[in-house]
Amino acid sequence: MQYAVDEKGFYGEFGGAFIPEMLYPNVEELRKSYLEISATPSFKKEFDDLLKHYVGRPTPLYFAKKLSEKYGTQVYLKREDLNHTGAHKVNNTIGQILMAERMGKKRIIAETGAGQHGVATATVCALKGLECIVYMGAVDIERQAPNVARMKMLGAEVRPALSGSKTLKDATNEAIRDWISNPEDTFYIIGSVVGPHPYPDMVARFQSVISEEIKKQLQEQIGRDYPDYILACVGGGSNAAGAFYHYLDDTRVQLFMAEAAGHGIDTNMSAATSVLGTEGIIHGSRTLLMQTKDGQIIEPHSISAGLDYPGIGPLHAHLIKSGRARSFPITDKESVDASFMLSRLEGIIPALESAHALTILEKYDFKADDIVVLNLSGRGDKDLGTFMKYMDEYE
Ligand SMILES: *Cc1c(COP(=O)(O)O)cnc(C)c1O
Repeated sequence: MQYAVDEKGFYGEFGGAFIPEMLYPNVEELRKSYLEISATPSFKKEFDDLLKHYVGRPTPLYFAKKLSEKYGTQVYLKREDLNHTGAHKVNNTIGQILMAERMGKKRIIAETGAGQHGVATATVCALKGLECIVYMGAVDIERQAPNVARMKMLGAEVRPALSGSKTLKDATNEAIRDWISNPEDTFYIIGSVVGPHPYPDMVARFQSVISEEIKKQLQEQIGRDYPDYILACVGGGSNAAGAFYHYLDDTRVQLFMAEAAGHGIDTNMSAATSVLGTEGIIHGSRTLLMQTKDGQIIEPHSISAGLDYPGIGPLHAHLIKSGRARSFPITDKESVDASFMLSRLEGIIPALESAHALTILEKYDFKADDIVVLNLSGRGDKDLGTFMKYMDEYE
């Protein structure tokens, strides 16, 4: 079985670039140059320097003693929550802004649902002095006021998407329209391992620094460079792709993905795509998505904005379909429980997204000497408003 993308941009039967004719030149320009540009010494040096001195990498791989005792296994937390801007997303936006710069693009566009990717994009645009326009559904602008304020503080323009349900997919449509109208000077920064080829592969490569570090850190800490299990949450799939990347072909390592079940997979309020999804095309790639029989996208639901997406990346669809990875649907309530548990047990407040992965520790019977690496994708500061609503239950 092969897990790397093929020449045509496919992972098994998933992936590709299903895009309108008008977009073809933009995507083709990127496809032709992304491997060459990211392999140049000057790109690598600037990427590594920024990850080190601006983002704060390498992030620690922390042996969580009390968590390990509680679950009777050996748990290591990969602390992506300690990155500048509070999550793994900035690894990718740094990579893409360097790509944009080298392709001579002066204007950056992005779309965002919860605003996390918008903030990570606005951050690197400020760093590079590039114009930044972030499309966001009008409903999301209301719901995610703190992140809208952050983007504006960083000098970005937030443009409301006023069509449809006024959420993420409408913002995506607006961004694509913009890109078609401004092919010469504009670079579209996508926030996860989704979209037409080469985006899923490019984003996975930028995030692969996570598993590169895990290898080194495990070697130093336990004298062997691989764990038995890697656990990560999956929205589009970028933090999981980064944590899995250097182990994809190493079948000694089992890959577990936590997906947002929302209120439960048998309710209409869920985002567990690998369980509920069927094959189709979303955002330019063939993958699994939640859709009705006639192909209308079903609005997803999750308590965590970062997992509230109706598809998964094509790599993940392939990992699930081929049996290489296993998926665990985790409910809203379970993720809130896990957030309070980790906060009080280890003094680490996780993002609600990351807490979904923690719940796998409850659901699977790990052995005492298993080495379990859990990718803690982000910090929970952004979710305090949600946690406050539940505070009484955990006193
Ligand atoms: C956005 C986000 C996610 C989900 O995105 P992926 O592309 O699946 O990684 C997970 N965790 C945090 C903290 C996020 O901000």
